[in-house]
Amino acid sequence: MTPYFPGHGDHRYGVTHYDLRLAYRVPANRLDGTARLTVSAAQTLSVLDLDFGKLRVSGVTVDGSFARYVHGQGKLRVTLPRALPAGEQAVVEVRYSGKPVAVASPWGGLGWEELSDGALVAGQPIGAPSWFPCNDRPGDKASYRISVTTASPYQVIANGVLVARRRGAGSTTWIYDQAEPTASYLASVQIGRYQISEYGGARLAHPARLATRVRYDFARQDQMMALFGDLFGPYPFAGYTVVVADDDLEIPVEAQGMSIFGRNHVNGGRGSERLVAHELAHQWFGNSLTVACWSDIWLQEGFAAYAEWLWSEASGGPSAGDHAQRWRQRLAQLPQDFVLADPGASKLFDDRVYKRGAMTLHALRGAMGDEAFFAALRAWTAEHRHGTVTTREFAGHVQRHTPRQVGPLLSAWLHDKALPGPT
Ligand SMILES: [Zn+2]
Repeated sequence: MTPYFPGHGDHRYGVTHYDLRLAYRVPANRLDGTARLTVSAAQTLSVLDLDFGKLRVSGVTVDGSFARYVHGQGKLRVTLPRALPAGEQAVVEVRYSGKPVAVASPWGGLGWEELSDGALVAGQPIGAPSWFPCNDRPGDKASYRISVTTASPYQVIANGVLVARRRGAGSTTWIYDQAEPTASYLASVQIGRYQISEYGGARLAHPARLATRVRYDFARQDQMMALFGDLFGPYPFAGYTVVVADDDLEIPVEAQGMSIFGRNHVNGGRGSERLVAHELAHQWFGNSLTVACWSDIWLQEGFAAYAEWLWSEASGGPSAGDHAQRWRQRLAQLPQDFVLADPGASKLFDDRVYKRGAMTLHALRGAMGDEAFFAALRAWTAEHRHGTVTTREFAGHVQRHTPRQVGPLLSAWLHDKALPGPT
């Protein structure tokens, strides 16, 4: 299958660890960084092609030795001082600086984004190279250490556990450790004048003046956490942080152990509660279990959309069956030209990825029965915890959890253009 983003990612090597040391000046939108990547060769390498956007590179070393490089058109090509044999590792250090420039995509600019008073990262699917050099394919997961120095009035949230916060003269350095394997698009830094508190089993970061609304709108998140824990298996990370930025965002954004909402998603009336459930569900489907190829995105968005319906059902709203029926009517009116398991790069975030994906799971649940279906989901998240997944693996997996032949049903939902009829 042709990759959806042929300019991103490289299978000739993997990165096992990213150590990012960043300094950011909010008013100037200026980022200075040193990225240290532990690279593991899958085949003998004499050059290393990293994905890296438009920040200016000032130096590269490999295992401490000066290395030559060429940077342009989204790629940083490093000539290795010595060939790196397959299976061996090297530490590549890149120093860089400048104003971050978003990565152009069919969905607008992606990646590091300047806010009215801070910054955020929205990496999905190809925004990571806007702020650090990386191997930008979702199946290449690594641990991260992210250190950010910025003016002291600002709070910094990054993936993982805050291991240190050091105050200097006027600035503070925040150091986060993300031990679990993380895809580059899910690496994230959030900077703003936030009030941070523990609430409902999560950490909330938001502008102080929105505290009442945020606490109301996220009040049922602990119940969602309990429900999803029952249905999908244990929450996969050390913690969960919700950031509400002091800007409007078109859609919320998921990151490893974190979700980012706009102030427009918080109205004090739970107007966006389905999105609260959706983003939380991505911690299982997308972040712990990450697609190896973007063509399988329904394994993330279809599952998160189905989690919205499951939350609705459990919290006294319409049942998952009601939602499925309503969306059947809507999708039946659209042209039948869509293949769920390979929608095409331009339709990566098409409504049908979400809704047909959720309908697929609902049809599967109907065929298997609740007990077998949810047991299969829990086994799925356990067996592939912190790993990568494919549609083919999912189909094989569910078949092992039911005596009924579900191959034809899944095949019709996943590979046929026409919407399958009600069963
Ligand atoms: Zn989503």
